[in-house]
Amino acid sequence: MVLLFALACAHRIPEPVAQAAAPVDPEGSPASDVTVCWLEYATGTLPHGLAVAHGVLRTDVPSTQSGLLIRSASGDWLIDGGQAVAVREELADVHGLPGLLIHRAAAGWTVTATPADALRAAGVDPSTLAGVIPTHAHFDHLGGLLDLGTVPIVLPQPEIDLATAVVAGTGRGVLPKEAVALLPRAHPLAFDGGPVLYWDRSHDLYGDGSVVLFPLPGHTPGSLGVRVKVPSRPGAELVLVGDTVWVREGYEDREPKSWIAASLDADAAANDREIARLWQLHRARPDIQILPAHDRRAWADAFGKPGC
Ligand SMILES: [Zn+2]
Repeated sequence: MVLLFALACAHRIPEPVAQAAAPVDPEGSPASDVTVCWLEYATGTLPHGLAVAHGVLRTDVPSTQSGLLIRSASGDWLIDGGQAVAVREELADVHGLPGLLIHRAAAGWTVTATPADALRAAGVDPSTLAGVIPTHAHFDHLGGLLDLGTVPIVLPQPEIDLATAVVAGTGRGVLPKEAVALLPRAHPLAFDGGPVLYWDRSHDLYGDGSVVLFPLPGHTPGSLGVRVKVPSRPGAELVLVGDTVWVREGYEDREPKSWIAASLDADAAANDREIARLWQLHRARPDIQILPAHDRRAWADAFGKPGC
């Protein structure tokens, strides 16, 4: 325990990043019909001291596996799908420290709905989705999306490359069975747009500024964030940040992950830079609701309860 504490304290605070004075805010069209819902797939608890370097080990934070259902006459999209129904079988060939952490994490979740069930409860036939987008290709975000039949899975090229390396036996981070299932259905996402908030590149999902995706590399090479600004939520802009931080104290206090949590980051230094950027965004725009993928407190603050 003393060693754990020393290692946790040794983890450095992410340095601020040189930024423009104000975050860039592309305007959404007032005519946008886009709406957003919270779909929840599983709940659990996360030790605060595991989530952040200087957290309290014996304090648990309510955690979630959740996704954003984005609805529009132009097509419905699902962002993040929780874990696969067959996650235990998929985890059988994962070993080492990451394997131990993932096995423990997977055992701790109470599944409340599959993505298909959550979609149907929201009035959406899963087969009609325009596509699905994982914030990154870890099992607890991608697995549930793979259960949705043949719906196209859209994700940045570095994440597709990671899955390709896993299949070739030269990479890790995606469950091997999920990498095999992903590649035939994967469509590369190009960040072909200009700046959003503090990030230089983006992809505007509907072309109206309502849902803008941007790269958040670090946790995985192709992790992404999602800025949602829709007329149906006036003054309640959202930024989903995947697992760049596990709890909101990460961006509120510029707090790095614990060394155990950071061991799951593909590039912890890059992830620290993104934590610093999120902290800067939170200071500049405290009105924006930043959603760490697993911090249920943040989701409940943003939406109240799951559903549409
Ligand atoms: Zn996760």
